Amino acid sequence: MNKKGHVLNAILLSVGLGYLLEPATEPGEIMVTLETMLMIGVPVTLGALFPDVDTDFGKHRKTLHNLPVLAAFVAFPYVFGNLEYVWIGVLTHYVLDVAGSRRGIALFYPLSPKEYNLPFGVPVSSSKATLVTVLVTIAEVALAAVIIFEVPQWGFELGRQTLGL
Ligand SMILES: [Zn+2]
Repeated sequence: MNKKGHVLNAILLSVGLGYLLEPATEPGEIMVTLETMLMIGVPVTLGALFPDVDTDFGKHRKTLHNLPVLAAFVAFPYVFGNLEYVWIGVLTHYVLDVAGSRRGIALFYPLSPKEYNLPFGVPVSSSKATLVTVLVTIAEVALAAVIIFEVPQWGFELGRQTLGL
């Protein structure tokens, strides 16, 4: 996907995540929801722009498009206390490159140069690229909703059953 697609994906995803995390149910809460969208949206958008730096530095879709780079961004806030949420931008960039475009990414680089993709991607230059970007983003927000709302419930139920309550 090109820069426009990645920025669109990052912004829409942040709007969705912001709403999921701080859903405004009355007018007085709208500012908190908007603040959450902004708080998440800036680092996520910066993270989403980062992997394509390898267009100029390294091998494109390899050097900065792999799981070790993602792991480093996930670990960074725990080690240094900043760059929270940037990993979400890096992750959504990978998802969009794997699911939304024809060419995949080298997930296991530098161990393997093989590029992985999903069969329903479209070429980056395709007129359907924006539509695919939006569809991938909707799927991501839906998955995030399941993780945010359902997984704690499953964990709670599992814990309850394990304890025999
Ligand atoms: Zn990319």
